[in-house]
Amino acid sequence: MNWQQEYNRVHDSSIHDGLTGLLNHKAFLDRFDEEVSRAGRFNHMLGLVILDLDKFKSINDSYGHLYGDYVLEEVSNIIKENVRAIDVVGRYGGEEFAMLFQAETEGDAHVALNRLRLNVAQYPFPQIGQLTISIGFLELVSIDTVSSIVNQADLALYYSKNTGRNRVTSYSELE
Ligand code: GH3
Ligand code: MG
Ligand code: MG
Repeated sequence: MNWQQEYNRVHDSSIHDGLTGLLNHKAFLDRFDEEVSRAGRFNHMLGLVILDLDKFKSINDSYGHLYGDYVLEEVSNIIKENVRAIDVVGRYGGEEFAMLFQAETEGDAHVALNRLRLNVAQYPFPQIGQLTISIGFLELVSIDTVSSIVNQADLALYYSKNTGRNRVTSYSELE
């Protein structure tokens, strides 16, 4: 390996999550920041999506941490299959993923995210059978701070969690 390949290898592993290959938390936020500051150029909907596995702790408790890791990999693969190349996806925390998501309208985003939710719910995971995810998202309308955008997407996610999980909530539904 020459120095250039070595540099690329180290750089690549510093921005990607080892288990899922998605952007890690910091790299996702950096990309998010970049994209949001250019957002004026987009003439379609741009949304921040936060997605969290439901009752994941009980899967670790019942089947072990390695099995939990396998489930996280499978879910990240389902996410990759359900987004477009222009969407930015990161592993935001342990069992939490974040996406910068493009669609024509907020309604279209809702439909697409619901399809992703169903694809996870219908995926036949060995041993556990069904696993579900909860999703919260926010249409970016004004250039706000990253932390307030993340807060609002989080509120939408909590709403999905508190109203039975396995559902998609847009922040605009809460207002
Ligand atoms: P909720 O539906 O409210 O989200 O419940 P939950 O059990 O999914 O949430 P909670 O925050 O209580 O637990 C998250 C669990 O995710 C706890 C932690 O052990 C597990 N976890 C986080 N990162 C990893 C990981 O990299 N691998 C594995 N196997 N488990 C992880
Ligand atoms: Mg969870
Ligand atoms: Mg969580």
